Amino acid sequence: MTDRSFPFLPISRAAHGPKALSARIVCSHCRATDEVVLGDRRPGPWIAKRFAAAGWTVGRRAEDDLCPACGTRRQRKDLPMVATKPVPTGEISQEAIIARKVVHDLLFEHLDIPAKRFRGGWSDERIAGEAKMSAKFVVEFREKLFFKLAADPEPARFVEATAALGRLLADLDGALGEVGKATDALRTAEAKAHTLTKAIAERVRGIAAEAGR
Ligand SMILES: [Zn+2]
Repeated sequence: MTDRSFPFLPISRAAHGPKALSARIVCSHCRATDEVVLGDRRPGPWIAKRFAAAGWTVGRRAEDDLCPACGTRRQRKDLPMVATKPVPTGEISQEAIIARKVVHDLLFEHLDIPAKRFRGGWSDERIAGEAKMSAKFVVEFREKLFFKLAADPEPARFVEATAALGRLLADLDGALGEVGKATDALRTAEAKAHTLTKAIAERVRGIAAEAGR
């Protein structure tokens, strides 16, 4: 794997405990560290194997070391596109196994499981892109291992438009009420005018009769 060396340093496993000779590895990406207790100086490859067993990506140079988390993240980006035609059981390639794990982990991370929906911004297509798998594979995988997505709720825009229409209808109802009230007032005024007209006409007739004498 590598014949590089690791820094040795005395580390006590408990506070104030005895110090034991250890080798340290540092993640070149996030600066996370890990130590392996040696007890005695050991050759680089022996130490590298211990770190690799703990999930570290041990590079040829210390600048290439990656902690398990950063190593997995990089692996995702480096994954080759994997054929999605069905592979007979037991003959699945190593790449396909890793790709399935990546798809599974992304689904688990970005699905709202109780709601049976993706969380904001995530979709089968986006996961397909991240995992370098086809969208068809992701959909089938999701439906087999998780669930079919819940039906879309009413889009927010539609809900908003409906509410606006409701407010307009309420306004129209109010306006019609005003028209009704105004109409009643108009009728009353009309009747009053009619009465006045009659009274005036009678008076005019009276005056004419007196003048005609
Ligand atoms: Zn890291």
